[in-house]
Amino acid sequence: MQAAQLIAHGAPGKFELRDLPAPKPAPDEVIVQVQSCGLNHLDLWLESGSLPIHVQLPRTPGGEIAGRIVELGAAVTNWHTGDEVAIQSNIFCGECEFCRRGEESLCLRGQLLGIQRDGGFAELVGVPARTLVRLPEGVDFDTAAALTLAGSTAMHMLTNRTQVSAGEWVLAIAGASGVGSAAIQIAKQLGARVISTGSTDAKRQLAGSLGAEFVIDSNDPAWPAEVRRLTGKRGVDLVVEHVGGDVLLKAFECLARGGAIVTCGATAGREVSLNLWPFFVKQQRLIGSYGRNRADIQATLEWAAAGKLKPVIDSIYPLAETAQAFAHLRSRTALGKVLIEPYEPVSESD
Ligand SMILES: [Zn+2]
Repeated sequence: MQAAQLIAHGAPGKFELRDLPAPKPAPDEVIVQVQSCGLNHLDLWLESGSLPIHVQLPRTPGGEIAGRIVELGAAVTNWHTGDEVAIQSNIFCGECEFCRRGEESLCLRGQLLGIQRDGGFAELVGVPARTLVRLPEGVDFDTAAALTLAGSTAMHMLTNRTQVSAGEWVLAIAGASGVGSAAIQIAKQLGARVISTGSTDAKRQLAGSLGAEFVIDSNDPAWPAEVRRLTGKRGVDLVVEHVGGDVLLKAFECLARGGAIVTCGATAGREVSLNLWPFFVKQQRLIGSYGRNRADIQATLEWAAAGKLKPVIDSIYPLAETAQAFAHLRSRTALGKVLIEPYEPVSESD
């Protein structure tokens, strides 16, 4: 089978399209024929070698997978070949105290698909059957691949790590990104009034079309003042943050008394210096969020089937153009998801 493997770190890293032996399933695993696989910032960190975890090269990246089961391990009973599935890319053990209560994203023995084991930029991938989520009727492979990781991350942030009540103000940072575009739609469906940010006209327009009531130019260093102005100086109840660094600190300037910031990323910096005085005086909360549970993926795909959550797809590449797909995501010009279709002929690309 063909696989796009990272053989040397860098920005750009070095990729090679390789012909590898087809994976064989362990007793508790299935083999999935990958129809579509989304790219994420996580893949760029893998590419550049900047993850704070050990990575062994060569590695087949890709964690946001949708496909069809083609082979079952000997002990797999509740799935069939031909079943259409998405995959929980936080590979969880299923046995630790956190897994037993459905909090797979807290698993003590978690492994990242496409980082610590080979992922979906390949025609075939082997994964434990417990990580599978069935695609609902009417959700195609590209839709699933565009929502399974980033969309379900937003679902986890807004419905598991925090709650949103009707009429509350929610600020979704970077509304044209995978997490941001889903966060706008989910918060809106939950009855919130949504403000978002974007660095270009096209990105701001996209955020507006997804349901953000106001979209602010994030190039203006005074953008938090605009959030305060729009909310009558009150600030927002919740910030969905996934950029980190200075953006996280600016998010505090946008936050109402008693408000919360939920954060799942640190592309712009992992270390910040926080003034604790206003933080506790205003009784605010900073909430970490990591990955998702299978329940979040299920909810995400069900919302997609019901038309409540739409994927935003920028472009689709064939497997042979994996390096170009990475370059496009790295350029920060993508409007929505960049997908790779390992098994299908290319239908569009830029
Ligand atoms: Zn576990």
